[in-house]
Amino acid sequence: MSKVYDLIIIGAGPAGLSAGAYAGRARLSTLIIEKAKDGGQIVITDEIENYPGSLEDESGPSLVGRMSEQAARFGAEKVYDTVQDMELDGKVKIIRCAHGDYQSKTVIIAAGAYPTPIGCPGERELTGKGVSYCATCDAAFFEDFEVFVVGGGDSAVEEALYLTKFARQVTIIHRRDELRAAKSIQEKAFANPKMKFMWDSVVKELKGDGLLSSMVVENVKTGEIREITADEEDGTFGVFVFIGFKPMSAVFEGKVAMENGYILTDEDMKCDVPGVFAAGDIRKKSLRQVVTAAADGAIAAVQAGKYLEEME
Ligand code: NAP
Repeated sequence: MSKVYDLIIIGAGPAGLSAGAYAGRARLSTLIIEKAKDGGQIVITDEIENYPGSLEDESGPSLVGRMSEQAARFGAEKVYDTVQDMELDGKVKIIRCAHGDYQSKTVIIAAGAYPTPIGCPGERELTGKGVSYCATCDAAFFEDFEVFVVGGGDSAVEEALYLTKFARQVTIIHRRDELRAAKSIQEKAFANPKMKFMWDSVVKELKGDGLLSSMVVENVKTGEIREITADEEDGTFGVFVFIGFKPMSAVFEGKVAMENGYILTDEDMKCDVPGVFAAGDIRKKSLRQVVTAAADGAIAAVQAGKYLEEME
């Protein structure tokens, strides 16, 4: 752990990769630490139509691929490791990971957020066996099968529309009788003949012996409980869950100020610890989008550079 980087970026989603590109261009020695796969949530997004300049039919993985290449082109190094602990208070920050420790003068936390589970019995056991949080990853497994989507926000409705390309029928199960999704997305959903809606309903249990075969749903207005079982010929069906996200911030608890698990920053992405910044979905903010994550990353990297200049 001899090298002291100018900047360590935790997370290689749009915020981290944008910070990496900006830091690299500013000639900061930069290390990006990513625990799994570049891209964060963007890699489970089929179509990114609202990132400025994105290509027609731009997929999350294709956009993130270009972001990764760009950060690398500007000299940002990358390591795949899991952050377990850190010392952020000194002039040299230490990031302790599963495979070693890394040091830097500044840190940008861009670890993102993860999908919220329903939290009902059977969900964990049947994840990957009928229950999914990623339409892009798993839609093809449900070609001509019946599929249910839980949630009523932009993600749920957009992903449900994507699933209609594969499944024979897609039913949105929403806990209210009105969708939260943007009206333009709703219009597409209501016009799609493959889409159905189960209003005022919540999933109480997911059942199956190694493969999802039935689901208990409650109508929250009437209290009626229904068990939906797989078509005999199919033997299974799909349940895709899109009910929001949780910040990946447990490891940062007690290290930087947070509210409900989201890291607090000022408009320059500064945390309450000097030399530490946060960017993207992990911070408290009003709009979590690729474009805002990328903007956060750029601001954080420029501010990290300014902090380093002032340190000298
Ligand atoms: P979201 O907007 O927070 O919507 C979550 C949905 O899940 C809501 O309909 C909510 O119901 C429902 N829900 C929450 N907890 C639940 C529970 N325990 N059981 C059942 N249902 C539950 O989340 P999102 O759709 O993932 O979107 C997150 C952010 O990303 C939003 O700002 C969204 O606009 C943005 N986004 C944008 C795009 C785009 O612009 N193309 C695409 C995807 C996401 P209620 O409505 O009753 O609260």
